[in-house]
Amino acid sequence: MAVERTFSILKPDATARSLTGEINAVIEGAGLKIVAQKRIRMSQAQAEGFYGVHKERPFFKDLVKFMTSGPVVVQVLEGENAVAKYREIMGATNPYNAAPGTIRRRYASNIEANTVHGSDSLENAKTEIAFFFKDDEIVG
Ligand code: ADP
Ligand code: MG
Repeated sequence: MAVERTFSILKPDATARSLTGEINAVIEGAGLKIVAQKRIRMSQAQAEGFYGVHKERPFFKDLVKFMTSGPVVVQVLEGENAVAKYREIMGATNPYNAAPGTIRRRYASNIEANTVHGSDSLENAKTEIAFFFKDDEIVG
């Protein structure tokens, strides 16, 4: 195993319910270090660019609307096997299918407002981190 970095978003449904501290405690409890973090309001262009791979999907417009509906917290997480580990503690995309104890099972409202984003590969993690952070904003 290797030390990796992954990209995380605490989505608008998390900030709306003031769950950022609680979710960060879960992240840190799993052994992942939060090496960069900022609270931002995503622009429509940022949301469309970030979720560009989904632009042909029927939920794309709604997803962009949701992601720009309130503040989000963008983060870089670092640790052993960080990409897979974060996906594991997040749980499945649909909270109804997410394993007990996972972030989405505990906190998510539905398949769209599912509380957190996490990169699905090391390659995408690098691209997603670069989308929101400059190198000197990440302090490992
Ligand atoms: P994940 O976030 O688990 O990697 P995807 O990459 O498939 O999931 O989808 C990106 C995001 O789009 C999801 O986290 C969720 O917010 C939203 N989404 C995915 N599938 C649907 C759907 N069927 N209906 C509404 N929103 C969806
Ligand atoms: Mg995805």
